[in-house]
Amino acid sequence: MPVCEICGEDVSEVKECKMCGVIFCQDCGDFERELCEDCIFEMENGEDEEDFDMDDEENFFDEDEEDFFEDEDEEW
Ligand SMILES: [Zn+2]
Ligand SMILES: [Zn+2]
Repeated sequence: MPVCEICGEDVSEVKECKMCGVIFCQDCGDFERELCEDCIFEMENGEDEEDFDMDDEENFFDEDEEDFFEDEDEEW
């Protein structure tokens, strides 16, 4: 019988989490999404913050580059 790596129980069916690779039972994750409860929690609580930071940085770099090219044209 397979053993769930999260709760340590012998269970009839387990899945491998596609994010972290842990073996989990039906009580410890989502079989349809193939995600353990830890990764489901992380996705639901960490995604918004990361996206916001990345967008912020991208916008900053775009503006910087435009200014740089404009200055160069004037000097030439
Ligand atoms: Zn379990
Ligand atoms: Zn996981």
